[in-house]
Amino acid sequence: MTQPVARTIRLTNSLFLTGTALLTFTAVPAYIWTFGIDWFQISLFVSLFIATGLSITLGYHRLFSHLSFKASWPVRLSSLVFGAASFENSALCWCSDHRNHHKHVDHDKDPYNIKKGFFHAHMGWIMFKDQPELDPDNTKDLAQDPLVMWQHRNYVMIAIAVGFALPTLLGFLWNGWIGALGGFLISGVARIFAVHHMTFCINSLCHCVGRQPYSTKCSARDSDLMALFTFGEGYHNFHHEFQSDYRNGVKAWHFDPTKWAIWLLNKIGLTHDLRRIPEERILRAEISEHQRAITTRINKHSLEIPESLQQLWQTAHDRVQESLANWEEHKKQYAIIAKRQVAESGRKLEELRARISDANFQLQWAMQEWRNAQREIHLQLSQLVSAGA
Ligand SMILES: [Zn+2]
Ligand SMILES: [Zn+2]
Repeated sequence: MTQPVARTIRLTNSLFLTGTALLTFTAVPAYIWTFGIDWFQISLFVSLFIATGLSITLGYHRLFSHLSFKASWPVRLSSLVFGAASFENSALCWCSDHRNHHKHVDHDKDPYNIKKGFFHAHMGWIMFKDQPELDPDNTKDLAQDPLVMWQHRNYVMIAIAVGFALPTLLGFLWNGWIGALGGFLISGVARIFAVHHMTFCINSLCHCVGRQPYSTKCSARDSDLMALFTFGEGYHNFHHEFQSDYRNGVKAWHFDPTKWAIWLLNKIGLTHDLRRIPEERILRAEISEHQRAITTRINKHSLEIPESLQQLWQTAHDRVQESLANWEEHKKQYAIIAKRQVAESGRKLEELRARISDANFQLQWAMQEWRNAQREIHLQLSQLVSAGA
């Protein structure tokens, strides 16, 4: 059955978003000015900020929306309870919107379509949403989960209890009515405001600021700076290209606390089946994006690059492709033999491990030469462009 489409302003959402913002910039500083702030209030704010923020990125996003790993019930339940306390709707509705975002990114059916402007993608879509509340067709799997459905039915009650009543009560136990007011304003209102805008930035800034190393098919971008404020969700270009991977910051040095939390939970047996896109597929995407960028630059300025440089570039590219295919082939063979588990498997696997390591070394070497060739080409192109200007 098609759901009715509401095109008017969403009063409750709009009042809540503007109300929490107003209080954060008026009542919160007034409270701190009058009563000061102690370590308890700061710790409560930080703990609830991390618990509710991670419940969105780890729970709502990577677990429930993308099924990029599996989690035992304590992880699912706490993600749902603290996720509700971030006041971003029930997991079922959030995932429905988010799956539509990925499916129709940058187009009309994308709920937070950046092409409709920065404000719309950031928060306007919540205040003036013209989409149905829930698209039941894209959340059939989640509707089978009793915990998800329990949270969906009791969302408002859980959100108020954990988002407002809990920090107020803890504040009261610490320092009477003054502590209660502080808990409500700082760990309730201001914390909700902070988590809201952290999440909203992923839909707005992460679709207009940063690099596109894996794909230019959509507006999503990678930004180290955004990753710092979004529990690692700032590697949004990677995420849109490889949404089933539990990591967003795929490189070892990428700041992705959500990825680390999932990995740590896996080590203590609370998450399993962590999905990773094979490294060779990620490398292929990166290589073809670099090649495309160079070709676009050459065509844009109608440049003629020297034949020797063209040859250097082509040779480096061919070597990388060859090493990549070789490495991939050995890994495939390894997986097949590891599955068979026959008597001679152990010796064969050891032999293949050595070959994989050798192929990986050759690939790294080829990648370095290819990067040098890229640099040479870009340098040459810059010189040609400035000579022609
Ligand atoms: Zn996503
Ligand atoms: Zn996105």
